[in-house]
Amino acid sequence: MLWSIYPYGGLVVGIFTVDFELTEEQSEIQMLARSFSSREMAPFAAEWDDKCTFPSQMLKKAASLGFGGIYCSEDGGGAGLGRLEATIIFEELAAACPSTAAYLSIHNMAAWMVDQFGNDKQRRQWVSNLCSMELMSSYCLTEPNAGSDAASLQTKARRDGSDYVINGSKAFISGGSVSDIYVCMVRTGEGENGISCLVVEKGTKGLGFGKQEKKMGWHSQPTSAVIFDDCRVPVTNLIGNEGDGFKIAMKGLDGGRLNIGACSIGGARTAYEAATDHVQARTQFGAPLASFQALQFKLADMITELEAARLLIRQGSLKLDLGQMDATVYCAMAKRFATDVAFKVCNEALQLHGGYGYLHEYGVERILRDLRVHQILEGTNEIMRVIIARHILRSKFNV
Ligand SMILES: Cc1cc2nc3c(=O)[nH]c(=O)nc-3n(C[C@H](O)[C@H](O)[C@H](O)COP(=O)(O)OP(=O)(O)OC[C@H]3O[C@@H](n4cnc5c(N)ncnc54)[C@H](O)[C@@H]3O)c2cc1C
Repeated sequence: MLWSIYPYGGLVVGIFTVDFELTEEQSEIQMLARSFSSREMAPFAAEWDDKCTFPSQMLKKAASLGFGGIYCSEDGGGAGLGRLEATIIFEELAAACPSTAAYLSIHNMAAWMVDQFGNDKQRRQWVSNLCSMELMSSYCLTEPNAGSDAASLQTKARRDGSDYVINGSKAFISGGSVSDIYVCMVRTGEGENGISCLVVEKGTKGLGFGKQEKKMGWHSQPTSAVIFDDCRVPVTNLIGNEGDGFKIAMKGLDGGRLNIGACSIGGARTAYEAATDHVQARTQFGAPLASFQALQFKLADMITELEAARLLIRQGSLKLDLGQMDATVYCAMAKRFATDVAFKVCNEALQLHGGYGYLHEYGVERILRDLRVHQILEGTNEIMRVIIARHILRSKFNV
């Protein structure tokens, strides 16, 4: 039997062919994102980092290009693009500022969850404003006592007439206090199937926020606890059915993981480019650093590993777009690999700068600080291995 394999450019049936080139439309999207990020993000990223500024106006401009709801449906107000296009966009935005691009990726994930699993009324109420970023959104799963074991979450939503009354707290919420919409996973019953997904709007009585966390990186976006104290939301804010919350949260994370991986690649690419320039400009022992073969080999390994990571991200994206059974495991592989490789590449880039790499002014240390957390959130890289290993052992997975 002949194989059918999808190139990035479309579906080819009948012959075994893999086309690694982007289509014309995908290249245009890439150029659009690249020119936007170099104009609207790169010149300001260091200042956002330094002053912990959340660039909401810039995000709205990004949304005017469709970047606020990249894979939300067009009828909901989204760009209606695929996951591959999303990763292309996030790589470009993160090349300028991984922290801000990552906030946007979380917003896209939350917006998609409402668009995908919400009913018509909910979609009309929220989705187009999410896509334009008139409303910004946060994803609320983690709790102080439920991190990697997210299904053990304890924040309770008790039904009271036509409302839910929520009590508990979420930890580490990106955009906590600045976002307008909190897509929250809460307990309405026992076990994994006792988790439901509720939208809580900022300004709802009983919704509060903890202090802004002081972090190693990701300074352009706030992180805080989200606290529910008899917080009453209408039953009409339930996304999907009662008990669907964990599945919805995990579906959101498949795409979120690809996007975070793409953000890592974007940041590492910039660090790699800076290192390449630096070793050509800097002279030691009477010769440019770039003339030392040990350093040439480093650069060769860095670009090779980044390219491999990008390919895995794109494969995961295609599998998710095609709804393939093993999409989740490929998303986990891609996230694990891309975020580890990108952090390593960034660290090598810093090393190639010598002492200058350690200075704020050179920009590489900011990227390193931003990329570190990608190995931890949206499921730690250990949890990615748990997902992959579980799949291998259950399905006798072959490559
Ligand atoms: C800056 C930042 C932003 C974040 N943003 C959000 C957000 O917007 N929304 C949200 O819901 N969450 C968010 N998180 C939370 C993040 O997803 C969690 O921190 C992460 O899932 C890990 O949970 P934990 O911190 O409780 O670590 P733990 O689960 O306590 O893990 C500690 C260590 O043990 C390892 N470990 C745990 N279980 C296993 C196991 N079974 N096998 C092997 N190793 C294991 C972990 O990999 C880790 O290395 C954010 C976190 C940070 C730091």
